[in-house]
Amino acid sequence: HPIWQTELYRRVLAGAEYSAAEDAANRLGEPFFKQLRLNSVLALPLYGEGQRALGALMAGGRKPQSRAPELLSVLRMVGSHLALQALVARYRSDSRFQGLHDSLTRLPNRLLFNDRLQSAIAEAGRSGEQFAVLFVDLDRFKTINDSLGHATGDQVLSSVAKRLRASVRASDTVSRYAGDEFTLILRHIVHRDDVTRIADKIVKVLETPLTLTDGRELQITASLGICFYPDDGKDGETLLKHADVAMYNAKGMGRNTYQVYVAVPEESHRQRLDLEAKLRVAERNNELRSYYQPQVDAQTEDIIGMEALIRWEHPELGLISPGFFIPLAEDTGLIVPIGEWILRTACADAKRWLDKFKIPLRVGVNLSALQLRQTNLVEVVERALRDTGLPGDNLDLEVTESMNIKDTPNLMDVLGQLRGLGCHIAIDDFGTGQSSLDYIKRFPADRIKIDQTFVRNIGVDPADEAIVRATINMARNMDRHVVAEGVETEDHLRFLREYGCQELQGYLFSRPLPAAVFENMLSERARLLAEIADE
Ligand code: C2E
Ligand code: CA
Ligand code: CA
Repeated sequence: HPIWQTELYRRVLAGAEYSAAEDAANRLGEPFFKQLRLNSVLALPLYGEGQRALGALMAGGRKPQSRAPELLSVLRMVGSHLALQALVARYRSDSRFQGLHDSLTRLPNRLLFNDRLQSAIAEAGRSGEQFAVLFVDLDRFKTINDSLGHATGDQVLSSVAKRLRASVRASDTVSRYAGDEFTLILRHIVHRDDVTRIADKIVKVLETPLTLTDGRELQITASLGICFYPDDGKDGETLLKHADVAMYNAKGMGRNTYQVYVAVPEESHRQRLDLEAKLRVAERNNELRSYYQPQVDAQTEDIIGMEALIRWEHPELGLISPGFFIPLAEDTGLIVPIGEWILRTACADAKRWLDKFKIPLRVGVNLSALQLRQTNLVEVVERALRDTGLPGDNLDLEVTESMNIKDTPNLMDVLGQLRGLGCHIAIDDFGTGQSSLDYIKRFPADRIKIDQTFVRNIGVDPADEAIVRATINMARNMDRHVVAEGVETEDHLRFLREYGCQELQGYLFSRPLPAAVFENMLSERARLLAEIADE
């Protein structure tokens, strides 16, 4: 029986004081007080400045209270103090809200945006994630304002704000930067396509005509510029500048479109050559790192395997995420030796853990399209298994479901031969490559990994939820395992369990960990299990 549902609470909020020195529960006759077996009850409203009570202060005792009248006056003093504090706290948060939010759209203003951008940079710098900054500028807004008046201009800005907000995740930042300029931060970006897809959606959402209060319809469009941290800038100023440059390029393309920032050729060319030269010697210089992210059983949440995720510890730039250097490695062919390095490292680590912890762990290793084209891939995998002693059954090779592998010659053959070594194939990023069902059926895969863009939208976008459900059903019908990637929240977990997804991977359980930390985690698990067994 919550106290705020009692009749007494309602009466006190309406302004009445109450005092019963004995027999209170019976006199009040409400279950709440009976349950607590209260003999004495004192209650009084809390007032701030106005006539309306801010809340109530109630006290009760199991024994009769002979000094109820004195106590009531003490409570009044305490009460006015509490009310004042509550009032001050409310003022503070209100003014903080006002100072950092735009009063028309209620969106964060430039100050708050800059603050959020700083924290995004700090966090991404630590975790190695990339994020995107979007600059949105309404096309010909000045004309609307001048010809239709400021009131109409305000309506346009408010509805643009709502449409932008509705186009992104709750955790993303949308701010009114100035006038008709809006800025967005989209966090935790794995693939750049995810961002361009959102940009595309924003362009379309904004161009749908909006109905003004007087019933007239008005069509507005916007130009968007996109840039990425850390590729296009490592500080807020540079990121905003580059998003702005990209936005002007979009205007130059005829407006009502988006553009991704492209660095000035000479500068970027030199940087790229520099980076390429460093990547060439990264392996020799011992700069490559293998990280592992656990995969857990959806029912028991116990560990069943891990995905190997590569990192590059650049001597000057620090830890670089694969989203940044894998494309460079693919363009230059360096992915072949790098891919072999991570394969051998992951097999060796997995074998060591298998022996040490005596639990069946699978390790997932990503293969890029270029590796699949190498005629000796099967040999390379065979050698890695032989040299490390890892049984093929414990190795999962992850192949992304994208366009660029579909024209790989003999793809099905190669995958078949790899399975012949005893290892398993997983289709990575499932749902992003628009494969036909028939193609999936023919694809010799044991596992299907649902792409994180769908998982992330569980609880947000019913269309994506439907895709997740359909993928799970389809996989089960084809007798394949389903793994969900990017499981971040309890809600995701509940949903995936309910619909029968078998394996899970995501920040909810753990981020990718350096090999040594991952091993500690396995030791800790073993220690806990031994402790339980002892008891
Ligand atoms: P992927 O294969 O789809 O790997 C999953 C990515 O999602 C990883 O990013 C992982 O850190 C991230 N992730 C895992 N759980 C969550 C979550 O709950 N939320 C969010 N927001 N992200 C999560 P990472 O390590 O940055 O790798 C990015 C991509 O780089 C990989 O995507 C893969 O395509 C590629 N990659 C990584 N290591 C290798 C490698 O050794 N070889 C090749 N060829 N590609 C690799
Ligand atoms: Ca993968
Ligand atoms: Ca994936």
